[in-house]
Amino acid sequence: MWLVANPKPKSVTVMGAGVTGVASAWYLSQAGFEVTVIDRQSLPAMETSFANGGQISVCHATPWANPATPKKALAWLAKPDAPLLYRLNANAEQWRFIWRFLRECTAKRADDNLKQMVNLGLYSRATFKALMDELPMNFEQRLQGIMHFYTSPDEYQAAVAPTQRMQTLGCHRTLITPATARTIEPALSVLGDALVGATHTDADFSANAHLFTNELAKHCQEHGVRFVYDTHIDRIGFDGTHITHLELSKNNHSFTHTSEHYVVCLASFGKRLLDPLGVHLPIFPAKGYSATYAVRDGKRVPQVSLIDDEYKLVMSRFSSEKRDVLRVAGTAEFNGYNTQLDQTRCQAITHRVQTLFGDALDYDEPNYWTGLRPMTPSNVPLIGRAYLGKIWHGQTATPNRKFDNLWLNTGHGTLGLTHSCGSAKALSLLMAGQTPPIDFAFIGA
Ligand SMILES: Cc1cc2nc3c(=O)[nH]c(=O)nc-3n(C[C@H](O)[C@H](O)[C@H](O)COP(=O)(O)OP(=O)(O)OC[C@H]3O[C@@H](n4cnc5c(N)ncnc54)[C@H](O)[C@@H]3O)c2cc1C
Repeated sequence: MWLVANPKPKSVTVMGAGVTGVASAWYLSQAGFEVTVIDRQSLPAMETSFANGGQISVCHATPWANPATPKKALAWLAKPDAPLLYRLNANAEQWRFIWRFLRECTAKRADDNLKQMVNLGLYSRATFKALMDELPMNFEQRLQGIMHFYTSPDEYQAAVAPTQRMQTLGCHRTLITPATARTIEPALSVLGDALVGATHTDADFSANAHLFTNELAKHCQEHGVRFVYDTHIDRIGFDGTHITHLELSKNNHSFTHTSEHYVVCLASFGKRLLDPLGVHLPIFPAKGYSATYAVRDGKRVPQVSLIDDEYKLVMSRFSSEKRDVLRVAGTAEFNGYNTQLDQTRCQAITHRVQTLFGDALDYDEPNYWTGLRPMTPSNVPLIGRAYLGKIWHGQTATPNRKFDNLWLNTGHGTLGLTHSCGSAKALSLLMAGQTPPIDFAFIGA
């Protein structure tokens, strides 16, 4: 009788313990890989995944690069509290990014990118919900949908065609009257006649990204995933198109780490580690802000996750036995890698929130935060096998240029929480030699 031994599981190192890294670790371990996660922080989700807007927003998410953006961005250039701000400086990386971003602003490119985002988003939301059914986790999730509300008649009219386009792509997003909007979310009554309309999706939802990532990391650990914290990845060692090792440092002590495969989930910081290998990621950081306010009068604070179109802010209520808060997030600043708080932008958020909800919130200690969204010019993340040259989704590479053991799951920009579970599951399928069941332009496919 022949005995066939189980093949030894393949080892994989996930670089980065943000929401995309931890979700990758989960699905890779479920696919039978032996997983190690390395991060410079001492806990998961301490950088961009720390205090984001918390929306799992498939049906309201349009690419930032679209035909209307260049004109709006020019008008915003002179306003320090504008929702989108380019701080023009001599950074060549930033100019390259702007050039590629502008090329994505045509109607055709924007529609192609939208399709990619929605396809991945629908798959990701279903994967996320299946995970919530499978694992006991509490991360302040609210399954009350997402509503996008408008106070400008022109902007509301301009939302009709994109909403219909979303519907053709499989999104259940509907145009609703102000009266219906107020019935779904009574806190919007405060707007009176200023509310001109809204769009609503009941299948989208909201969740605390930091809590979700930490809860999932605990489940990963229970399933054998090893987490190595407080450890900086200094360099990726390579030989042609093969990764040989990682050079790491912890407390001024340097050492190396090896595995069979490596996955990059380093948000805006992967680019600088990969450039020396000849793998050029089109990622640039877009700084965003959030403010978190304690709730004083719960009845006047939204339960449904909202998007305030005029101010480009998202609002999500996070409640648990320990706390009840409203997180308000938004704005984008292209200003390199700096994460300093700009008081003008913080005050602009608080001013808008005060106008809407008055003394229903506590403004004494708003918890302000900034994070660097890892933006690609198209808003479409980079998932798949790395290759030598300029990385672009859907691009094929000849076998001699493809890395045999380097994988990407990065560049999630505005939608890292939304796309986390789908991107991670799709990557685990690709790495296991299978085809993910979605129409999406994977890297190096
Ligand atoms: C204001 C704001 C609001 C947002 N709102 C939403 C929203 O409502 N919905 C949504 O879907 N998305 C939202 N996003 C986007 C989302 O937060 C990001 O896309 C997501 O967090 C990216 O996750 P990540 O795991 O790729 O990056 P990160 O969470 O930043 O993880 C990367 C990890 O890599 C580690 N790292 C980096 N370099 C090194 C190194 N050299 N060595 C070791 N470790 C390293 C970091 O410590 C970090 O833990 C928002 C973002 C911002 C800024």
